Amino acid sequence: MIRSAKIENLVLKYRENKLSHAFLFVTNDIAACEQDLLEFIKRISCPKYEENCDKCNICYQISHDDLPNIIKINPDGQYIKKGQILELKDRFKGKPIFLENNFYFIENAEKLNASSGNTMLKFLEEPEDNIIGFFLTNNKEGMLDTIKSRLQIITVLYDESLKNNLALSDSEIENYRKVLLNYFADFPNEDLLVLNKTYLSGIVTDRSSFNSFFIYFYSLLREHIKRNSKEFMKRNFSISQLNKMRNIIYELLESSTFNVNIELLLDQFAMAMEDLNEI
Ligand SMILES: [Zn+2]
Repeated sequence: MIRSAKIENLVLKYRENKLSHAFLFVTNDIAACEQDLLEFIKRISCPKYEENCDKCNICYQISHDDLPNIIKINPDGQYIKKGQILELKDRFKGKPIFLENNFYFIENAEKLNASSGNTMLKFLEEPEDNIIGFFLTNNKEGMLDTIKSRLQIITVLYDESLKNNLALSDSEIENYRKVLLNYFADFPNEDLLVLNKTYLSGIVTDRSSFNSFFIYFYSLLREHIKRNSKEFMKRNFSISQLNKMRNIIYELLESSTFNVNIELLLDQFAMAMEDLNEI
């Protein structure tokens, strides 16, 4: 099963013949993202057109890393090396066999250095039909701009990994709850920027506190929506407002993977929250 809706959407793009030839996935869980992309390859390649097949030869081989159409490249030591990219080029020289396309994965794409990056660039600049590249990173800022600019960028966050990465102490949770209660007791204020300054700027001071606070907020909202509960906010937010709020925070967490200016992100949050009243 493909977990990410954005990757699911690529199936449609593929069927409409509108798929790019190289993507950059910015994600908080590279392994989960790669798994989803393998599911994507199965979905478009299964000769039985079955979802979650795994029974036919093709799907079985994809699952077991056994098909020459798929090459995965990992950093060899500290970097991805030029030789690895040359080998990839070489192996994908002819027409694909078994599948309609050849696919390559560049895991931890920020580990391309000047030399391997240059070779990669040439590969990207002469796109061949039937070759599709998936670059994966959790560090978009660390990537070479020349490579980035040639890729279609898709941000994919996995809820479960967000939650698992969140190791908060009881006192932090207590603190965050208190801050949110006060925040919503005063919401909507004339000026949400002021509300941010009053309640959030004290605890959200850097990228790490930004992430843990908003991931906590996000999981709290998700629980509330699931249980259809208003208990926490003590306000009559409609379900569509809660959903909208959850999307706001999701997008905010996405932006924070490539924007480290916390003040700017908090302003973005305030502006998005203003729209809540218009629902
Ligand atoms: Zn199959």
